[in-house]
Amino acid sequence: MNVIGKVTVLPQLPAEIARLSELAYNLYWSWTPHAQALFEELDPAIWERFQHNPVRTLLEVPQERLQEVAASPSYLSGYAQVMADFDAYMDRKDTWVATRTPELRPVAYFSMEYGFHESLPIYSGGLGVLAGDHCKSASDLGLPFTAVGMLFHQGYFRQLFDKDGWQNESYDELDLTTLPIRPALGAQGEEVRVRVRIAGREIAVKVWTLQVGRIRVLLLDANVPENSEEDRKLTSRLYGYNQDHRVQQYVLLGVAGIRALRALGVPAEVYHMNEGHAALMSLERIREYVEAGLDFRTAAETAASSTLFTTHTPVAAGNDAFTFDLMDKYIGDWPGQLRTSREELYALARHDQQWDGHTVPAFSMTVFALNVSRAANGVSELHGEVSRGMWNFLYPGAEENEVPIGHVTNGAHNLTFTSQKMRDLLSTVLPGDWTERLEDEAMWQAVEKLSDAQLSDVQREMKREMIAFIRRRVREQLQRNGMPAADVAASEHLLDENTLTIGFARRFATYKRATLLFRDRARLSRIVNHPEHPVQFVFAGKAHPADNPGKAFIQEIYKVSQESEFRGKIVILENYDMNVARHLVQGVDIWLNNPRRPLEASGTSGMKASFNGSPNFSVLDGWWREGYDGENGWPIGEEREYADLAVQDDADAYDLYRRLEEEIVPRYYGTAPGAGSWAATVRRSIETVSPRFSMQRQVIDYVQQYYGPLGQRGAGLAANGAARAREVAAWKGWVRQQWPHTHIQAHANLPTTARPGEKVTVSAQVNPAGIRPEELRVEAVLRRGQEVLHFPLQAGENGTYNAEVPLEGSGLYSLGVRMLPVIPGLSSDFEAGLVKWA
Ligand SMILES: *Cc1c(COP(=O)(O)O)cnc(C)c1O
Repeated sequence: MNVIGKVTVLPQLPAEIARLSELAYNLYWSWTPHAQALFEELDPAIWERFQHNPVRTLLEVPQERLQEVAASPSYLSGYAQVMADFDAYMDRKDTWVATRTPELRPVAYFSMEYGFHESLPIYSGGLGVLAGDHCKSASDLGLPFTAVGMLFHQGYFRQLFDKDGWQNESYDELDLTTLPIRPALGAQGEEVRVRVRIAGREIAVKVWTLQVGRIRVLLLDANVPENSEEDRKLTSRLYGYNQDHRVQQYVLLGVAGIRALRALGVPAEVYHMNEGHAALMSLERIREYVEAGLDFRTAAETAASSTLFTTHTPVAAGNDAFTFDLMDKYIGDWPGQLRTSREELYALARHDQQWDGHTVPAFSMTVFALNVSRAANGVSELHGEVSRGMWNFLYPGAEENEVPIGHVTNGAHNLTFTSQKMRDLLSTVLPGDWTERLEDEAMWQAVEKLSDAQLSDVQREMKREMIAFIRRRVREQLQRNGMPAADVAASEHLLDENTLTIGFARRFATYKRATLLFRDRARLSRIVNHPEHPVQFVFAGKAHPADNPGKAFIQEIYKVSQESEFRGKIVILENYDMNVARHLVQGVDIWLNNPRRPLEASGTSGMKASFNGSPNFSVLDGWWREGYDGENGWPIGEEREYADLAVQDDADAYDLYRRLEEEIVPRYYGTAPGAGSWAATVRRSIETVSPRFSMQRQVIDYVQQYYGPLGQRGAGLAANGAARAREVAAWKGWVRQQWPHTHIQAHANLPTTARPGEKVTVSAQVNPAGIRPEELRVEAVLRRGQEVLHFPLQAGENGTYNAEVPLEGSGLYSLGVRMLPVIPGLSSDFEAGLVKWA
């Protein structure tokens, strides 16, 4: 058909169930299986066909069916219960924020992707799911919080395997009327448009509202008739077609995102950049201050003082960087708008790169983000450490562990990923309000009261559901590829519910080493085909469309799964998304993760599995390095890095097989003499991982470590026409100018060996070049291994400084003396970027 227009005819909801529509437009249902059940019950086939989409389901269900359920007492009682719970959730006054920190200032959170639910495919993987979960817990805890993202109208891709197991991508144009979003309306009830100039073109951006419990997400959409065909594609796909497309998307997210907040009058005093993609928000925030009359440096200081940056990428090459020429094309008019020079603006982002054997200055999104924020963090303790090492060069004179990048370990939104059956079981031992204090570690000890049988019954049911789901999916795939009827029929017998089942699902980035398990096929075959104690594996995951090595991994697993010795025992499922993720984390017995350490910044899928009683079996990287306690799962390999990757792979693979054979399989089948029961490990994994890696704990950490302090500091710098920001900016300008003229020389009477507790005298001679003594810190720095201790030197006459430095414990110490300019209220000692070592 040649479509000339579209119209949606809305169903008439009978009065008895009139609020189903309201429920469909609030993602509260995405973590509430009972709410989903109300839609599923309307028509299970429609529900399944349209990715569990409540809005779509309401549009598709025949009117007669609506009348029918509206007359069904059992449906109405379920409906009444869900609506009562929903109202109680929405109206709750004593939230965590209201009772603990009511003065918290409003937060604006920017992320390129969000994973809320499979029916809203605007995420590619872990980063998006993390952002979606962050919003859900921000709602649960009652944060004043608004999120900003992009409405990708072709979503991320749908993954299809061909007959040979090669990944193909399919892009479906989303029909926006079937999504739980509404146009954001301005004060006069008009649809809001914001405009952004990119490369001389005026781009119109429509703003949509997505309601997630109590909080709102604003989604930016360039696919509007005012824009050219090319510009309409700016919000078609995640992470663009090429570098040019990507940069423009970043401009849209950052600049149009801030403008959307302003157009809607959304209050925001703390700004959180989730990954460097969001960093260009600072251009617009600085521009606003410049427009209000501030000079560039004061404006930049003010904007930065309320900005937090979270980095997720532990490899240098994974951090986006663009040539200055490319940036000129898309942000070339910004230096003028900010009343600064290109040189000064780009200096905030400069990171020289090696391209084709040449050193080229590049605009790094991460470097820019670090320079235009005053707080930064990695996403696990180890990733914090790795990040401090990676970005140490931006803080000359700082020791690695002084680099001002902290960490907040990731979490996952428990309720989104925990099955209803497990929730029901947990409710039998946890207090009535357990879903509201998920981070409470003591509360979770009650899980010890669950019996082995209770757990294994629930886990068996979850596993059955997963196996049925996998068989259905594989059958569909085989039919689509025109496979022989015998093969299609065989899919009815894939996997066995009595067999130890291990899940592995994530993006197929090569560092995640999806094929590590296959390093020794013969040994794997012995494990899988053990006559009494077999093991089976389920894989899933998407490779980035341009990542052929990742696609080759998928194909390798697919081919192994077709070999006769592994058929029906190793399965790889298509189209990993949140739906597949939920089925797998709920249904498998163990969750496997074997990335190449330390490249997994955090990882979160193992947390979701633990919530459901599937212990984690993983390399001690990311979150698991903190989460593993000796009893709640198993490690793989050692806590170290290797120079030779092949050696690392061999060592890890060997350890993986050994632990499976010697520890995990015997424990699962109850054949380990004297060892604890399988259920003991299951209980331990639920009770330790659920609170510590709850998204609720994560968001509380962000509030306490960052949102609260930054909000106060930012407000202090911005008050009275940014008076303090102006002082700080002026002071930095002055000390930077004086610094080359300063001088320091130091002396210490160090013996070659010393007794513990002995003191050494350290002295320095300083020429402060006019910098006031109270603004100059002269200190001795004592380093022993990773530990760094500071001892201030006291000012004496004529530029002399002295201190007695105690050597407290035994060990090999290095001593240095340095000076740095400081004033009260800086975000870190390295903010001015000036350190001089003697
Ligand atoms: C949780 C999740 C991820 C993240 O998994 P990792 O453990 O970080 O690899 C990716 N994709 C989906 C769909 C998820 O639900």
